[in-house]
Order: sequence, then C-alpha cells, then structure tokens
Amino acid sequence: MTKESPLAHPRSQVVIDVEGLTKRFGDHLVVDGFSIQVERGRIQGFLGPNGSGKTTTIRMLCGLLTPDGGRGSCLGYDIRREAERIKSRVGYMTQKFSFYEDLTIRENLDFVARIHCLDRRKKRVEKALEDLGLSSRRNQLAGSLSGGWKQRLALSACLLHEPDLLLLDEPTAGVDPKARREFWDHINQLADDGLTVLVSTHYMDEAERCHEISYLAYGKLLATGTVEEVVRGAGLTIWSVSGPAVRELARDLRAGGKVEMVTAFGSALHLGGQDRAALDVALAPYRDRPGLVWKQAEAELEDVFIHLMSQAEDSYR
Ligand code: ADP
Repeated sequence: MTKESPLAHPRSQVVIDVEGLTKRFGDHLVVDGFSIQVERGRIQGFLGPNGSGKTTTIRMLCGLLTPDGGRGSCLGYDIRREAERIKSRVGYMTQKFSFYEDLTIRENLDFVARIHCLDRRKKRVEKALEDLGLSSRRNQLAGSLSGGWKQRLALSACLLHEPDLLLLDEPTAGVDPKARREFWDHINQLADDGLTVLVSTHYMDEAERCHEISYLAYGKLLATGTVEEVVRGAGLTIWSVSGPAVRELARDLRAGGKVEMVTAFGSALHLGGQDRAALDVALAPYRDRPGLVWKQAEAELEDVFIHLMSQAEDSYR
C-alpha cells in the first residue's frame, strides 16, 4: 500500500517544485540549471529542438534519473531520496511505448494492471476502456490499431493506477490532426479533473493548449510562462512580406546578415528582431522593391521559438 502523498494536504498545490537541476552524460552538459514550479491541475508544455534535454528533465522529475546537481520535490516527495514513491504516483508515456500486438486492447490493459499488481483489476480496466472511448474496440488486436488509437491505448494504460501526475513525452508524434485533437480533448479533461500534466511536443497548436510552456535549447531553459507571456517577453517586431519577389528578398537579407530573423511562413516571409529601430534601418533599402507587399504582424509563437533558437545557437558557438 502506497503512503498517502503529502499532496493530500489541501494547502499543497505545487506538484513540481525543482531548482537548479543539472545533468551530465560524460562531458556533455545535457541539462543546465533547470528550475520550475507546476501547480496541480495545470498542463505544462515542454518545447525545444531535439536533443535540448526535455526527456532527460522529465526523467529527473519523476525519479527515473538522479540529477548531478539541484534539488526539489515532485508530488511532495524529494526527487533524490523518495524516487520510488514518485514513480508509483506518476503515469509516464514514453516516446516509444509498446504493446503485445497479438493481444486485444482489453487484454493489454489487463496485462498492465497485473504487472503493477493493481487491485480491482476488472473494474479499473472497464473504467479505462470507457473513459478513453475504447469500449467498442475492446476485442480488437492492438497490432491492428491505427496510430491514433494506439496513443489512446497507451494513455489509458498510463492512467490505470490513477496517477497524480502524467508525463507525456511527444505523445502525438506521427498522429493525424483529428486524432491529435481528440487526444488533447482528453488531456484537457484530465487536467480539468485535477490531474497535473507535463507534456513535450513540437506542435505549436499543442503548445497553445497548455496552461504554461517552457522552451529549452542546449539544456537551458530560455523562456517560460503562458504563451502570451512568452510571446510578449521576446519583444519581437515582425514584418510579414508577401509577393512574387519574396524568395529573392530572403536570399539578399540572409546574405546581408543584418536582419536577426528571416523565416519563411507559408508563402510569406517573416522578418523580425528585438531592436525595432535597427530592424527598420536594415530593411529600409528593400522597402521600395517591386513585387513585395509589406505588413506589420503580431509575433507568433513559432517566430519566438525561431528567435530563441538562433540566439541559443549564437551563444553556444
Ligand atoms: P530531447 O528530449 O530534448 O530530445 P534528450 O533529453 O533526449 O533531449 O537528450 C539530450 C541530450 O542528452 C542528447 O544529446 C542525447 O543524446 C543525450 N543523452 C540522453 N540520454 C543519454 C544517455 N543515457 N547517455 C548519454 N547521452 C544521453
């Protein structure tokens, strides 16, 4: 029987509270001074390029990996000394989850319940099937499911033991947009019911569905807050340029190297920077070129991530 989590105390609303987490693999500093606080019932998004340390951070938070430096708690338990307790209260959906393809959905869930020695097994499996809309497919072989249904099965397996914290590592990679939307409807519902969720993703629309996001690059936390706070915090001025001459403009601006951000956005080109005056000066020679339509635009999350990434690259060089 698991000890009751200290979070059962009504005043304890902070589920994750860590400071200065550091992790090295050999000479490689993979996570560099990561700090965060996440409250109960919140969805915290992790974004950043591949290799930026998202998975390693997630693994330190749930007690699967011991940090080299830093301290903190998860679900009220110390991440160094009480890792076993944390693990028992966390549902972790890894990037590469797997099932027995020749077992049905129900049999797979029952199997997971047995592995975890869960009580009320039949009841839990029935509830999991119902909650995730899997009941009608209960007898379908897991191997015959599409990507979206496999994600659902993985999610329901993570929820069988009724965790207090859900860690999802790129749960919707390679899943079609409709299935992704449905998956996120479940995530939002779970959070509304009080479950705390930490999710890594590369999708901007998914970032927008998180209560707060954290952007990591080269192991460093570069920005954190609500989407609005992160966008505002970047302080970017953006020009959106369209028309037949945008490709040539992009080539010339990149060659000139005076504009911080030159990015293709569909058929338009986004030009941006933090210093508005410097941006205006850099763009002035091009403003009257034929074949271009200039429009000032609101910075989007993707603009901000591209900007953060290029800054991180510059300081890493
Ligand atoms: P992300 O989830 O952002 O893609 P990861 O946390 O998986 O990033 O990886 C960060 C870096 O740490 C990568 O360069 C990866 O190769 C390295 N890394 C991760 N796990 C190990 C390990 N067990 N041993 C050595 N290097 C590792």
